[in-house]
Amino acid sequence: MRRLRREHPAALLAVTGCLAERDPDGLARRPEVDLVAGHGSSAALVRLVEEVRAGLLPGKVAAPGVSPDEVLRSPLAWTTGPGRTRAFLKVQDGCGRRCAFCIVPSLRGSERSAPSAEVEEAVRVLGAQGVPEVVLCGVHLAAFGSDRGESLVALLERLESRPPGCRVRLSSLEPMEAGEALVDLVAAGSVVVPHLHLPLQSGSDAVLRRMRRGMTTVRFRTLLDRAWRGNPRFHLATDVIAGFPGETDAEFSETEALLRDLPLASLHVFPFSPRSGTPAAALAATDGVPRAVVTRRAARLRDLDSTIRRSFARSHAGRHADLVSLSGGVGLTETYVEAALSAGCPRPGSRFRARLALLSDGTLAAHPESRPPDRLQGS
Ligand code: SF4
Repeated sequence: MRRLRREHPAALLAVTGCLAERDPDGLARRPEVDLVAGHGSSAALVRLVEEVRAGLLPGKVAAPGVSPDEVLRSPLAWTTGPGRTRAFLKVQDGCGRRCAFCIVPSLRGSERSAPSAEVEEAVRVLGAQGVPEVVLCGVHLAAFGSDRGESLVALLERLESRPPGCRVRLSSLEPMEAGEALVDLVAAGSVVVPHLHLPLQSGSDAVLRRMRRGMTTVRFRTLLDRAWRGNPRFHLATDVIAGFPGETDAEFSETEALLRDLPLASLHVFPFSPRSGTPAAALAATDGVPRAVVTRRAARLRDLDSTIRRSFARSHAGRHADLVSLSGGVGLTETYVEAALSAGCPRPGSRFRARLALLSDGTLAAHPESRPPDRLQGS
C-alpha cells in the first residue's frame, strides 16, 4: 500500500479482500488508504469509488451492501476489459476446512458455489465475445458445486464435450479435494489447459499434520505422478510455507528433497507469517522458527523455484504452442509459460499459434505461425 501510494500519489487507493474484512478500522487509520471495502461491499466497488470521489462516503470504511452469500448469488462476477486480455470468473467462495495457518474460513464462511449452469453459460458468453482465456477462480475451487450437488469435473466435462470459443484455466485447487478424476480430465482436456496449481505447503508429513492439512506427501506424489504420466507437458505448481512453527532443519530438508523430486514447473514460496486468531499463531508464540531461519529457508526454496522454472521453460524450446498475447509484449502458453512476442504477433487479447525459441538468457521468444491453434502437447 505504501509503495502504491508513493508511485501513484494522486490515485484513489481502495483495499478489499480478507484484510479489509478483518481489520477495517486499522486500515482506515492508514494515511495512504482512501477506501476499505470488505467482502460484502467489494461487489459494489465501482459505485463506492465514485462515491469517494464525490465526497459522499462518510469515513473510509464502506458498509456491507450485501451479505457474502448474496455476493455469490448475484450474477457471476468477472473481470475483463481494457488492459486485461483474460477473464477471471469467480465461481466459488468460502471454505469448510480449518488449516492451522489460514484465516480464510473465519472471514469467508462456508463453501458456496455459483450454479454450474450459470458458470457454463458465462464461459460460453465470454468465449463468444472473443475473450481468449477464462480463468475459473474460487477460495476453494476444488469444492466447487459441492453445496449444490454439482461438481467441477461435471462442469468441465460439459465444456469439453461442447467447446466454448475460449480456453479455460483453473486457478489454485486444494489437492485434498482435487482427485484423480479432475487430474485425468485436465491432463486429457482440449478446452481446459494442462496447468494445475495444487498447494502442498510442506514436504514433511509431521509439519502437514501440525498444519491440519488432511494431506500426506504420499498422496500428493501419487496425484502429481498421475498428472505427469497423463501429460508430461503439464504445468504442475505448488505453494510451500517456509518456517511453519516447529519446523526443524530435518523437516525443512524433507520439504526441499520432495520438491526437487516432484515433476513441478513452479513453486510459490511463502515465509511463514502468523495470522492472529489462528492455531498456527498460537504455535508460533511458543515454538516459532527464528525470523532469520525462515528467511534463509524461503530463499533456498526461491532458488529452487528459479531452477525448475528455467528448466520448464527450456523444455518448450523448438515446440509449437497455442498462445494468448498479453499486454507488455508477452504471450502466455497453455502451460503457463511466458514468451516474448516477436514481430508479426497479433495484438493483446488474441489467441494464435507460434513456434517457441530459446533465447540466450534462458527465456522464450514466440514466432507466429499461420495455422490455427491446437494443443502444445500434441505438437
Ligand atoms: S488453506 Fe485452503 S483449504 Fe485450508 S482453510 Fe484456507 S482456504 Fe481452506
